[in-house]
Amino acid sequence: MVKPHPLAPSPDGEGVPEDGRPIVLPVGVLALQGDFARHAEALSRAGLESREVRRTGELRSVSGLVLPGGESTTYLKFFEREPGWGGALRQFAESGKPVLATCAGLILIAARVDNPPQASLALLDVDVVRNAYGRQVDSFVGEATCADGSSMEAVFIRAPKIARVGASVEVLARESSDPVLVRSGNVFGATFHPELSEEPAVHRRVFGGGRSADAAAPAPAARADSGVASR
Ligand code: GLN
Repeated sequence: MVKPHPLAPSPDGEGVPEDGRPIVLPVGVLALQGDFARHAEALSRAGLESREVRRTGELRSVSGLVLPGGESTTYLKFFEREPGWGGALRQFAESGKPVLATCAGLILIAARVDNPPQASLALLDVDVVRNAYGRQVDSFVGEATCADGSSMEAVFIRAPKIARVGASVEVLARESSDPVLVRSGNVFGATFHPELSEEPAVHRRVFGGGRSADAAAPAPAARADSGVASR
């Protein structure tokens, strides 16, 4: 079942049919690189429809946006070729619609990036250090502790660490003492890959969504196909 998103229809009234029933806009998943397909699956487990976004104009027809993990330098290469992306993503984030940036997506929107330094969009007031846990072989499935004391599985793959959190940024979950899920208003950042865990708790928190039948399945200790070790 697809639950209407609280932010649909868009505030400018686009997409409201004559009978007044709201159209449910899908959640967008930026599909330029990385594991966008897994995010679409996680949104579906949360009972939400999604749409892949490959052109800036497609941002008009989505109610929220996922910036998937993968490789942040690949994002930068795309944006060099199509400079309109930076402004389009800034405008989207400033519109108040929910944004979830994971891993390389978080690196892309951080205020400052180190190891090595690289350009970023500064849509979220955090500083990040790339590959802060080591190389691919140091990827692991950990457990994040949420602010309310509950815990959730968190899959870290060549993950960054958040080295500084701005005054406007709330820490929603930590692994050891490191912030791993943060929020500033409508913009959320995760250093891990919530789309690789069975339970779509993060997607549901960011975008709303009901509980679909298969979302009730217990989270596996480690995804056999994600190539990361448990710790
Ligand atoms: N290490 C990658 C980067 O710097 C991020 C890895 C990921 O998204 N899983 O962009």
